[in-house]
Amino acid sequence: MSDSDERISRDFFARDPDEQADFLHNTWCNTCREIDLGMVHPVEYELLERIFIEGQCAVCGEPSITELVEGDEDDPDEDAQEGESIDLDADSNA
Ligand SMILES: [Zn+2]
Repeated sequence: MSDSDERISRDFFARDPDEQADFLHNTWCNTCREIDLGMVHPVEYELLERIFIEGQCAVCGEPSITELVEGDEDDPDEDAQEGESIDLDADSNA
């Protein structure tokens, strides 16, 4: 497919407001070399079947790109593993 490397525009502002706030806060700036500086003027697009949000670093104004990782929201296994460390040991030590 010759157009597989084309950007496909998506509507960032169609997302849940909480999600928007998360994405705008959880950033990595290559120029500042710091996380969570925030970004402004976000533009969401799809490229090579991956989702990106591109904006400007709120601190230095350089482009800041976040890749969205989908599908790890409903992973019940992680919660189950944490639940396996039961408090019984602590009780027997007391
Ligand atoms: Zn920056």
